[in-house]
Amino acid sequence: MPTTFVIAGGGLAAAKAAEALRKEGFDGAIVLAGREPHLPYERPPLSKGYLQGADERQKIFVHDADWYRDHAVDLRTGVTVTGIDPAAHQATLSDGERLRYDKLLLATGATPRRLTVPGHDRGSVLYLRTVDDCDRLRATLSATQSAAGRIAVIGAGWIGLETAAAARAAGVEVTVIEQERQPLLGALGPEIGAVFAALHCDHGVDLRLGARLAEITETGVRLADDTHIDADAVVAGIGAVPDTELAAAAGLTIDNGVKTTADLRTSDPDIFAAGDVANAYHPRLGRHVRVEHWANALNQPAVAARAMLGREAVYDEPPYFYTDQYDLGMEYLGHVPPGVSRDVVIRGEVAGREFLAFWLGDDDTVLAAMNVNIWDQGDQLKALVLSGSPVDRGALADPAVPLDGLVRSGG
Ligand SMILES: Cc1cc2nc3c(=O)[nH]c(=O)nc-3n(C[C@H](O)[C@H](O)[C@H](O)COP(=O)(O)OP(=O)(O)OC[C@H]3O[C@@H](n4cnc5c(N)ncnc54)[C@H](O)[C@@H]3O)c2cc1C
Repeated sequence: MPTTFVIAGGGLAAAKAAEALRKEGFDGAIVLAGREPHLPYERPPLSKGYLQGADERQKIFVHDADWYRDHAVDLRTGVTVTGIDPAAHQATLSDGERLRYDKLLLATGATPRRLTVPGHDRGSVLYLRTVDDCDRLRATLSATQSAAGRIAVIGAGWIGLETAAAARAAGVEVTVIEQERQPLLGALGPEIGAVFAALHCDHGVDLRLGARLAEITETGVRLADDTHIDADAVVAGIGAVPDTELAAAAGLTIDNGVKTTADLRTSDPDIFAAGDVANAYHPRLGRHVRVEHWANALNQPAVAARAMLGREAVYDEPPYFYTDQYDLGMEYLGHVPPGVSRDVVIRGEVAGREFLAFWLGDDDTVLAAMNVNIWDQGDQLKALVLSGSPVDRGALADPAVPLDGLVRSGG
């Protein structure tokens, strides 16, 4: 019987794992089972180029169908892994098949958090996670634009803001409803949150901050202070939760996702996890980290593949995230643990939306760095985040001081 590796999940992490296994020279059987009826695809275009009609559908797929055939990857689309029996090394599929596996990778991703207010189940409520969601939203934006209507976006996080930007680009009126005092408050803090607030206001978004959603009505949404906002459709972007159902039922350790070691091994030695679902021990940061970032789904699978093959591997890349909204492009590298006070130092022109931002720990080390519309300093930002040595705040804020000189060795 050939060695069989099963990949549960059909997104970027799953496809990259299959690719990495072949690159590592694995010549056993690979079965990749994904719930969605599509080839594995990338999600960032769903709130950017593909949503706006700028990117062709072909561009979102990780590989075309031939790639799976050419690399002998047994791709099962529209098939859910419904159960795992770790003791018997068996996975059960939604079509009834039972598969024996030697190693299994969980790449089940995350699912959108759902609204629970009255009216949450109205047909006007949309979410944005899958390409089918995106097609529905595209059709809604186009119909809303033709009817000179408005959409309401619930949540000023990444998905909500990118959706708002796409809607404005389509000529649709947008109200964004956010319960916090700034957009992206939890991710970036109030100073940088304000940059995104100004960006969206400048592009004609009606941004309601500190506003609590009370109900989805027949004609829009009602807020807790009884304000009614008319909307033809409501897009909820209120976060996502890791899809741990399968892992939990298999008895694996769950703690904000599937808990893994630095080589992405779960509490079962033959089961691994990568991407949005994995809460992996990060040796550089000295704690477990789970982020819903494209770069994680892209890069963790290579480590998981090596570990599945019994080779040495550690995932210690600093978390990386990017966004594009209107004419603002930004990248964020590093990690500020939730609940840790964050001091932000800014270098450059916030008003002109061309600047760098640094989040410092108590000891003045750079925990995270962000570049907004500046594209030639990526290496220096990475060096600062990785150095772990304290920096001089004044010099960090001063564009005349080269960043190279701020990284002290031996930190
Ligand atoms: C609209 C959108 C825009 C984004 N933009 C950005 C961005 O600009 N920058 C950035 O860094 N990140 C972005 N992200 C996040 C990024 O896309 C995710 O981090 C990435 O998709 C995670 O990949 P994954 O393979 O781990 O999980 P997923 O992409 O969630 O894929 C998991 C797949 O597994 C399937 N599945 C679940 N359970 C099972 C099962 N039991 N059996 C079989 N299949 C199963 C799911 O249906 C899904 O298809 C965005 C996400 C979304 C939704």
